[in-house]
Amino acid sequence: MAVTRRIVTAVGIAALCLALVFAVARFVRAASFAEGVETANATLRQTVNALDGHLRRFETLPALLARQVEVREFLSAPPDADGVQRMNLWLKYTNRVIEASDLYLIAADGTTLAASNFDRDESFIGQNFTYRPYFTEAMAGGQGRFFALGTTSGIRGYYFASPVRDWAGRIVGVVALKIGVDEVEAAWATPSAQTLVTDPDGIVFMATDPLWRYRGMLELTADRVERTRTSRRYADQDVLPLGQSVAQVAGQRLVTLAGSDGVARDYLSVSRDMPQAGWSVHVLLDTAPLHARVRLSVVAFVMFLGVALSLAWALWQRRARLAERIALQAAAQAELEGQVAARTADLRQANDELHRMQADLVQAGKLAALGRMSAALSHEINQPLAAARNYAESAGLLIDRDDLPRARDNIGQILSLIDRMAAIARHLRHVARKPDEPLKTLPLAPAVAEAVATAGARLAASGVTVRVDLPPDLPAVKGGPVRLQQVIVNLLCNAADAMDGTGGVIEVAAFATGPSVTLTIRDHGPGVAPAIRDRIFDPFFTTKTVGSGLGLGLSISYNILQDFGGDLRVDTHPDGGAVFSVVMQAAG
Ligand code: ADP
Repeated sequence: MAVTRRIVTAVGIAALCLALVFAVARFVRAASFAEGVETANATLRQTVNALDGHLRRFETLPALLARQVEVREFLSAPPDADGVQRMNLWLKYTNRVIEASDLYLIAADGTTLAASNFDRDESFIGQNFTYRPYFTEAMAGGQGRFFALGTTSGIRGYYFASPVRDWAGRIVGVVALKIGVDEVEAAWATPSAQTLVTDPDGIVFMATDPLWRYRGMLELTADRVERTRTSRRYADQDVLPLGQSVAQVAGQRLVTLAGSDGVARDYLSVSRDMPQAGWSVHVLLDTAPLHARVRLSVVAFVMFLGVALSLAWALWQRRARLAERIALQAAAQAELEGQVAARTADLRQANDELHRMQADLVQAGKLAALGRMSAALSHEINQPLAAARNYAESAGLLIDRDDLPRARDNIGQILSLIDRMAAIARHLRHVARKPDEPLKTLPLAPAVAEAVATAGARLAASGVTVRVDLPPDLPAVKGGPVRLQQVIVNLLCNAADAMDGTGGVIEVAAFATGPSVTLTIRDHGPGVAPAIRDRIFDPFFTTKTVGSGLGLGLSISYNILQDFGGDLRVDTHPDGGAVFSVVMQAAG
């Protein structure tokens, strides 16, 4: 589809260019032809003026000469040979003065009696010119004019004649003069323009190309031929058609004509009549230089068009490439955006999934913790409750039997069980409640000593001993005395649990590092497995059997130290056993 459209566009542009070239060619040809016609007209004007001026110089002379006494007397009464000779000399002299070709006197019967050329071979004397129209016109009383090829001389010339009258006013003869045209004709020769002069019958008698002389430009009709023959205008010369063809091109008259060199050329033709002489002057301008100019202009235009089209094509290509690049970039961007969107969606989905899983895990963890706590609590409470119930029943039986001392003993057991449950309740309270005991500055050593004393019974039960080794210059720490003691007791008890029955030693040490003081409690138990190291500080996390641990000790201790602005950490000693580090802020 696109290819078809492209072909149609290309053909359209080609047709348009062709039409444009043709239009330009037509325009340039019309313009240069019009200019050519102008040039030809200028030449024509010059030629006509020159010819006219040439003729005018002579036109009044015959009338003037006809009035001369010598002339009138001579023709009124033709003299003897001497008289004729004198006249001949007079004519010869006068002819030289007026610069005519020939000057002669013709008797009424047409015979030439005296002539300026009396002494030349082709002398007119004795010639009869009755056939020449200029003679008959003058004899009729008019001013005779005629152009012809001299029958005697064979030289083309223009004849002027005037009637000569005797003293009574009768026409007794004619004075005639002939002027040559060869010089005028020779002056016309130009390379690009040809000049022709035709007589009233359309026969060329002057031409820049000699071949065209005595040729009929108009159709050689019978009466035209007859007239020419009668007047012997062209003597014995055969008159042939000129053989030109005429066409109308670009509004101008175009004549095709072959010259002496045998080459037919196209000429722009302009012409003008010279009514007085009865002539038509034609100027033919060779169109070859005009055609060459038109061709040059068309070639220049075609080149310009080529350059313009190339430029347009280059511009179009550039634009197309740019559009393509923009489209490619847009596509790439769209693809990238699509990928990003897809990836974002994937990530969001994964994230959602993760969140869900986390939520599920937290939920599961909470439930598990709740389960463990419930189990521990129910055990911790049910066991003393069941025991208390047994003691109460047997106390009742013992009271019935009046065994009061044993009954009292049982009641004492019940009271201690109640105390134990109260202790559990207290523990639980610690989990939830944040004590508002203010922080104090505490020396560490007494706090440790008190804690060891408090835990004494328990430690003894497990068969472990405690070795406290604190540096004497240890700075005091920030904390609450009761809670700090609770933490240390708790850690000592856990250590004792870990070393139950081994008879080992718990080592308590401390060191200060800048702003903090660290108390370490090291045991020689199995240590804390890496798998549970992160979880032992969680509430209700315990590895101990139900009834022996609530899993709250480390959680509570951790929170207490957070309250003190400190920390609780666990490590495994390189030689085995767990090391709990109680980190506290050094006071002051
Ligand atoms: P409980 O002592 O009631 O289990 P704790 O929070 O005090 O609760 O302890 C949590 C768990 O941490 C214990 O169950 C035990 O697995 C582990 N633990 C605590 N202290 C030690 C220790 N010194 N050596 C090895 N394991 C310990």
